[in-house]
Parts: sequence; C-alpha cells; structure tokens
Amino acid sequence: MSLVDAPTGGAEEARGLILTDARLVGSDGSPVDVLIESGEVSAIAPGITPAPGVDVVDLGGRWLAPGLWDWHVHMDQWALARRRLDLSTARSAAHAASLVGEKLRDDPPPSGQPLVGYGFFDALWADEPTRGVLDSVSGDVPVVLVSNDLHAAWLDSAALARYGYGGHPTGLLREQDAFDVSTRVSAVPDELLDRWVAEASAAAAARGVVGIVDLEMSFSIDRWARRVAGGDRSLRVSAGVYPADLDRVIERGLRTGDVIDGTGGLVTMGPFKIITDGSLNTRTAFCHDPYAGLEGTPAARGLSAYDADELVDWLRRASSAGLVPAVHAIGDAANALALDALEAVGCGGSIEHAQLVDARDVARFARLGIVASVQPEHAMDDRDVADRLWAGRTDRAFAFESLAAAGVTLRLGSDAPVAPLDPWVSMAAAVSRSRDGREAWHPEQRLVSSVALAASTRGRSSVEAGSVADLVVTESDPLSAADADLRAFDVAATLLGGRFTHVALG
Ligand SMILES: [Zn+2]
Repeated sequence: MSLVDAPTGGAEEARGLILTDARLVGSDGSPVDVLIESGEVSAIAPGITPAPGVDVVDLGGRWLAPGLWDWHVHMDQWALARRRLDLSTARSAAHAASLVGEKLRDDPPPSGQPLVGYGFFDALWADEPTRGVLDSVSGDVPVVLVSNDLHAAWLDSAALARYGYGGHPTGLLREQDAFDVSTRVSAVPDELLDRWVAEASAAAAARGVVGIVDLEMSFSIDRWARRVAGGDRSLRVSAGVYPADLDRVIERGLRTGDVIDGTGGLVTMGPFKIITDGSLNTRTAFCHDPYAGLEGTPAARGLSAYDADELVDWLRRASSAGLVPAVHAIGDAANALALDALEAVGCGGSIEHAQLVDARDVARFARLGIVASVQPEHAMDDRDVADRLWAGRTDRAFAFESLAAAGVTLRLGSDAPVAPLDPWVSMAAAVSRSRDGREAWHPEQRLVSSVALAASTRGRSSVEAGSVADLVVTESDPLSAADADLRAFDVAATLLGGRFTHVALG
C-alpha cells in the first residue's frame, strides 16, 4: 500500500499494521519491523512476515518513538489564540497599539465583535499600557488584549464600556477581572469553537502529539465527549476540573483516569486543578522574599490564594473522591505551601509550574513522589524578567536539572496558549535553555535529551512490545538532534492506538 493511503481511522485499526524498516529511538538504530494489533505494539523484530490482510507501511529507515504528551494545555484558549492577533513581539505599549491598528486596517473583526489579541508581555516595556494608547488606533471597535500569562487584560474604552468597566482609570485589568473578560471574549458558539479545537487538535497531532492534559478553567468533560462524538479523534484528552466544578465531578463518581462514556477511551477524567498563587510577570507568584522593586509594599512577596488549612481541605475533598491534585504553584513560598498540603493529605499529585523552588523543597518533591509539571519555554520567555524580579534567586528558577537529579518525575508542557502546543519546542527549551541564538540561561539546568523526551511521553523512553501504539515517526533521531533542529523537528507521522492521526511520509 502506498504511504499516503495509510489508514487514518475507523475499522482499519482492528486489522493490524506492520511498520517496516523502523529505527527505534533509544536503540542502536538497527532497522526493525513493528507489528501493531488491537491498538498495541505486539511484536518488534527484523523481518516480520505480514499475515493476510495486515497493512504494511514502510518507514524507510525513519525513527520511531513513543507518542508525545503535553502535560498542561488550555485547549479552548489555544484554539481561540490560534485565531487571534499575536502580540508576543510587541516591544512597547505603543508598538502593541500599532500592531492592533494594522490588524484593524487589514483584517477587522466582524461588525459588533471585539478584536482580541494575546501574548503581550509588558513587564519590560518602558511605556504604560493604557486605554488611551489603544483608543488612538481603535476608534469604536472594542479591543481586548490578554497578556502572555493570562493574568492581565488591556482594554480600550469601547471594550471597557462593553464589559462593564466604563470608569476604569487605566484600562489594564488584573487577575479575576482579567479572567472574567477573557472568559467573555472566549464565548464563541459551540459549533465554531469545536471546529477550531478540532483544527488545533489536528495541528498538534501533526507535531507528534497523541495526548494532552486539558486544564481549561470551565467544566470541559461534556464538551470533549461532544467533540469526540462529532468526529474529533486526533488526541487523547485527560480533562481536569477546578474547585468550582468539583461537586459535579464527585456527584458523577468520576475519578482521575476514568474513561468518559461514549469517547472510545479517548477522554478520561483528569486531575483536580487548584491555583494557589499568581505569576512571575504580574509579580503575584507567592515568594519567600520580596520582588525587586516592591519591597515594603503590601503584596511585596506576591499573593497566596489559600491559607494552609484551606488548601489541605480542598486537597482532602478531591483526593478522597479519587481525584489526583494538580496544584498551580509558581513562587517558592507557594511551592512550599503546596508541598506542605500535599504531604499533610498524603495524596500524591503534581505541582504545576514549580518555577521557583527552595533547595530543601526539591528533595521534598522527590520524597513525596510529587510530579513537577514544568513548561520549559516559559523559561525562555521569562529569563530577562526573572533576572530582574528574582535577582539573586535565578539559580533555582526553572531548575529542571536540579529536580531531575533529585529523582523528581518531570512532565513537560506548554501551558498553551502561553507557549505553542508543540512538545518539540518544550524539549528544545529544556535541553538548550536557549532560543534565538542567545547564550544558554543557567546552562547547568539543561536536561539531557533522553530525560526531556521521557518527560514528554508520559515516562515512556522507548517503543516496547506490549505498550500502547501511540507513536511518533520522525525523520531523524531526536536524541542526537542539534538544539535548533529539535525546536522545529520534522514529524513524518503520528499514530494513536495504531491509527494514523497524521501522515507526511514523502
Ligand atoms: Zn495553565
């Protein structure tokens, strides 16, 4: 059979498939054949003879690795972001406003709809993002710009009036106000959002992704069931739940890992996500020491959303119902508090972000078996901000190798839309601590590529008989790739449960 006719779904997966002339990542690279039956890798050997009716796909010496997972995604936000004005390159408020002006001239939103932008990064701007700066280019069009870390939203006067902040002095909303506006501009009709999510899922599959942990803030399990029923079968989804919807999940008796009915095993109940502090850029991540420039002010060390007892209560409720916690903690004080609570409850789970961790707490992660779910590309986005706001502490910021060396289980993610949903970008950032040709930032914290890969495959370091046939085919060996090549790594095919979700075998 020709490569472009490779099976892409449906009944084919039951028929059996042999991938010939494959080289397994992590092996010596000798060619083997890989037999896939009933969604699993059932045999690996040179020269397997195909039984009648079994499809054969020649990989032509390409490399085969376990399929990739992104451990921290906000999928609806990512699907929307792919449609929005990208402001990550804006060097000032005035520059951001000029990009908005260009977009309004060249590609305005439908009448009555807001222009939505994302990814601006104001911590290093010399000028202030104010309503006035936007008004000068936007006229009557409501403009809502969401910051890189999602914790701030910058609105023009038309948008402030529309979303109920008419008297706001600056137009820069923070935290809950920012989340609220962000939620409202994200309210597109279900059918449209599902289509955009399906496109984003297919794009992820084209990068070798087989699964995501979706930490979308609104209750997403039913949406995912609807999407799969509607034919979106590109990814496995572990869908998390937040405190606001914890009761709904407990009432349904769903435990982390349970398959959601009607999804053919693609959608499972994810973790219980709880946010305990803010972010670095907004100086709201909760730290032991004051932020540079905020000394002596009331929130000099950032913000903690819960005290110790409250956090323990939430974790106890969730874990006693079978839900594994995923605790957002960025600052070192937040990480200490999260570890205290996880230790008190004895429930395991993950800490999301773990950006600044006290040396003593690195060992605690390992001892308690808490997963560090980290986003290496954030280190590349935030290195300059961290050097300034966490001056003197960056030796333990985004300290991936310290965590790995202590025996902590790492999981890599993008936090898309904060960084692109592309595990190769995350891996490249983790192994190089560099981007755009800059010198490596704290190169002592680089991960070795095999660790970065295993942290991107749910811990699978190679393709083995008996494992699920979630696989990625690459043009070359990712473990020996140059850093710059890894960032844009060529993916030739992706299989999910033995079914092709992406094929580009030329
Ligand atoms: Zn997130």
